[in-house]
Amino acid sequence: MQRYRNAREAVDDLRPDVPIYGFRPQVLQQDAQRFLAVFPGKTAYAVKTNGEPAILENLVAAGVGTFDVASPQEFVAARGAKPDCELLYMHPVKAQSDIRLAFEQYRIRSISLDHEDEVAKVLRIVRALDIDPATITVFVRLATKGHAAYELSKKFGAAPGHATELVQRIASIGFRVGLCFHVGSQVEDIGSYRDALTIAAQVRRDAGAEIAALDIGGGFPAPYRHEGNAGPAVPEIEQMMPRILKEIDAAGFGDVPLIAEPGRVIVARCLSVIVRVLLRKGRRIYINDGIWSSLSDSWTGKIMLPARFLPDPARKRRAGKDELVPFRVCGATCDSVDILSRPFFLPDTLDTGDWIEIGHIGAYSLSLRTRFNGFYPDTFVEIETPFEEAPGARGYASVETMGDVPGDDSAFGEN
Ligand SMILES: *Cc1c(COP(=O)(O)O)cnc(C)c1O
Repeated sequence: MQRYRNAREAVDDLRPDVPIYGFRPQVLQQDAQRFLAVFPGKTAYAVKTNGEPAILENLVAAGVGTFDVASPQEFVAARGAKPDCELLYMHPVKAQSDIRLAFEQYRIRSISLDHEDEVAKVLRIVRALDIDPATITVFVRLATKGHAAYELSKKFGAAPGHATELVQRIASIGFRVGLCFHVGSQVEDIGSYRDALTIAAQVRRDAGAEIAALDIGGGFPAPYRHEGNAGPAVPEIEQMMPRILKEIDAAGFGDVPLIAEPGRVIVARCLSVIVRVLLRKGRRIYINDGIWSSLSDSWTGKIMLPARFLPDPARKRRAGKDELVPFRVCGATCDSVDILSRPFFLPDTLDTGDWIEIGHIGAYSLSLRTRFNGFYPDTFVEIETPFEEAPGARGYASVETMGDVPGDDSAFGEN
């Protein structure tokens, strides 16, 4: 990987026409260590957030030794980075053959579920392989309600009464019992965790079983900004985690071994993408990336990314004032929905051929790239300076939900 101090230097050297990913391994290791420092339990990185080998290897170097995995490919990815790492198989709905692979080949001993038919699948494999159930922790995934950028609790999880039955069934078979939840992604309010912990405490009480571990999932927020560039700053993990731990204590889980499954909070800041403006048409710009490449997460998650204007020094004459104005951003593909539904605020002097560095895209970007229309960004450089500290004009990208796409362009001075 070629190495540069910042994106400006990379652009001056490469004058790239394809999107370039700027990877910041020091930032990644730092953010991983920040999480490890504030969380007293076991930190299991959620591999789906970004499972690239370079990411996983740097996490291992930072001290992460446990991974939350959901598929055989993720088992392979995590063990590729650390052959003796512990894997937690926390997908509640699994193929029978994958459960067998997990127990037999990968020696996985932690697994989650939210239905009795899944208990039956797990038990069938445990019997077939003659494994002692007491060596396996079965986590019951609890249904929760949250206020995340992404609301994930609708898909998985057992309601309290159902969860209580599952806990009793699992305990009676002889498995160790765990409880787990995942309140969503980019969760900025403690209330979501508090509500989930209240449910966990209720299930524990009603089931009357010993709880071997509590897994509080992921969802911890990355430092994006808020819509309209307003509102309070996103809380740092150093502020948020002590408050969550207090809630854990209050719910009576203070003496239970804890697990967390962070994704976004650890990897968001370590990657940026440098895109080129292929064309400016009034207040509309066409870039060489888009929702089918690196930007789908910000699009679905109502996430506002930081952006930096990198003007092309070869362009000697520029129109417009040096003030931030909103640009409608069109993606590279021919798909008419490939338009970011909220503007990027960038200097009015921006023109065809300039570059934009979009920061904090480490989560849910590389894994969600498609080959649609033949565009597949895959060029990486290493960048030393954290995005926030690099020189140059700042802007920000305001990206919102798909529901807004057909909207009104009147604010954009189309021509
Ligand atoms: C996606 C996921 C995570 C990671 O979520 P972040 O919001 O990126 O922290 C953790 N646990 C489970 C079960 C998940 O599905």
